[in-house]
Formats: sequence, C-alpha cells, structure tokens
Amino acid sequence: MSKLSRRLFLSGSTALTVVGVSQLMTSCGNNNNSNAPDNTSSPSATETTGEVNLYSSRHYNTDTELYEGFTQETGIKVNLVEGSADELIERINSEGENTQADILMTVDVARLWRAEEAGIFAPTSSAILEERIPASLRNPEGLWFGFTKRARVIMYNQDKVNPEELSTYEDLADPKWKGRIIVRPSSNIYNQSLVASLIEAHGEEQTEEWVKGFVANFARPPQSNDTGQIKDVAAGVGDLTLANTYYLARMAKDDDPAMQEVVEKVKIFFPNQDGRGAHVNISGAGVVKNAPNPENAVKFLEYLSTDTAQEFFAKGNNEYPVVEGVSVDPVLDSFGSFKADDTNIAAFGPNLADAVQVMNRGGWE
Ligand code: FE
Repeated sequence: MSKLSRRLFLSGSTALTVVGVSQLMTSCGNNNNSNAPDNTSSPSATETTGEVNLYSSRHYNTDTELYEGFTQETGIKVNLVEGSADELIERINSEGENTQADILMTVDVARLWRAEEAGIFAPTSSAILEERIPASLRNPEGLWFGFTKRARVIMYNQDKVNPEELSTYEDLADPKWKGRIIVRPSSNIYNQSLVASLIEAHGEEQTEEWVKGFVANFARPPQSNDTGQIKDVAAGVGDLTLANTYYLARMAKDDDPAMQEVVEKVKIFFPNQDGRGAHVNISGAGVVKNAPNPENAVKFLEYLSTDTAQEFFAKGNNEYPVVEGVSVDPVLDSFGSFKADDTNIAAFGPNLADAVQVMNRGGWE
C-alpha cells in the first residue's frame, strides 16, 4: 500500500465536507469566510489552516479519500460541491464576483472549453504544473490542467474483426465496414471532441465527408451509451464501436459473469498508431477567476500532480495518469501501451461548434 493510501485509510477523522450547492451558499455567503465552520472545535479533527472550495462533476469515492490526504498534508480543508458540469458552470457564472468556487473540476475538454468560454477560469502559472503535466494536456494560458486521461478507441468483437483490418479513425468511413459499426449519438460530448480532433487534423470539409462515410457504415441508428455499445458489440449487434478506455476497464473489474463474457469478446484497438496517435481526453480542473482562496487552489492542483495523488486519482475512474512514469492500473496496462495524439487538446475547443454542425450535416443522429 502506498504511503498516501495508508495515510488515507488510517485517517480516523475527516476535514472533508461534501455540501450541496445551496448549503454552501448559506454557510459561506460572503467572501471573507468568517462564518466558515470552525473545524478545530473537535479534538479528533485534523487541524486546518485554511480551506479550498472545489466544485466538481467527478463523483468517485476514491477522489474523496484523496482530498482528505491533501488536508492531512497541508492543513487546508476541502469543501466539495458536486453537480453536473453545466450546473456548476452556470452557478459560478451567475455568482460572479461573489462566488465561493476556487476550483472547477470536470471531465472532457469540451466542458472545460464551455467554462473557458464563460470566462470562469483565471490563468494559473505554476512551475510544478508546467513541469509535471504534458503541454498537450493543459491550456497554454494555464486556464485548466488535465490530471487524468482516457483514450477514445476502437473496441471490436474478436470473433467478427481481424485486428489486421483495423488502422485509423479515418478508415472507419471505408465501405468495407458497411453495416458493422455501432456508436452513441452525436449529442454525446466524447464523440463531439473526437470529431473536433478530426477537424483539427483534416479541416471541416474533409471531416464532413468522413462523417458521411462513417454514418453509411452504421449497423443501427445511434443510441445508448459507451457501456451499451460495448455490450452490443459483444452480442454481435455491430462488429465494432468507439468507446473510452475506462468503460472496458470498469467492466473487466466487474465480477458479474455476464460482464466477464463481454470482456472476453471485446478487444481494444488503438487507432492511428502510424500517424498522429489515438484521441485522448482528460479530467481537468482550473482555478476560478473570482476564487476566494486562489493560493490554496493552486496548492491543491499541484498536489493532484504528485506521483501518489496521480496514481490514486487515475484509479478512481480507471484512467491513465498524465504524469510520466506514474504507474498505470494493471487492467489498463493489459490493454497495451499506445501512442496518443499529442496535438494540444485545447485546440479542439474552438472546433466543437463546427463538429456538431458537421455531424448534423453528415447525418450522425
Ligand atoms: Fe464517461
């Protein structure tokens, strides 16, 4: 057991508070934090010397344990506010200068882009973050930083597809795949980010042609979610799909015999390995422009880039750490190593609106 996790599990007390959005408003209704709960009144509580308000759309128990580790290390109490990304963005936006949010954390660069467009983030400059987090996985102005990554890859039924037939995302528009592909709808943010990456690589016109060819190969109208696609690939509804790596990893860890059967059938193929690499996306976070505790916010983000936090945070959702050399979950490791597209994912944000239009025009429901 790592030093961090040992500390987390031995921790008998907690300084972490999970509060609802409205509750936070009542308890921290002003900017000087004078009415913040006094944590030192309990003799068993960790002594805290400040706080940080984390607005997050990630919900994993392991994340909570990780935040407790931060409090033990720094004395800074973490107040966690959970909600959907859109709810939190809306909330921070409408609170304006009076917001209590120090950090907004969410998944997928498309949502970080929405927050960026809403003017929520302040540029952060941190030598630690710049050194630890690869340049392609953070905003060039320091508006947000990726802390874990996932790849959106081809998952195929090994009874139906010879992996030698597979090569690139682009190749999935080839008529040889007619009636063999299933995928979730174009309203899904992961697909939008992937198409935004294709626009970055090929431009809008060529990407629209690709969408038309891809759609022509569908075995059924788009429906369901990534897990649904993987199960249906195993059941032979389609021969292959596009899905995020963590979904298959999660299923692989499920003892349910039905899940084990699915995982036996469905294999991963990392596309574009001879070219730009597989499409990756992130869970990421940035410091809020009107943060009441900006220094603590930066400390928290730096903490998330430490080796132990990286390992723990990535495991929470079966994702890859972003920091080089941090150990990867054994199930993910069993999928094999791969070359990731190292285009700065910040470039995909401005393509998102076009991506949605291109998908509509190309007939991707
Ligand atoms: Fe997901």
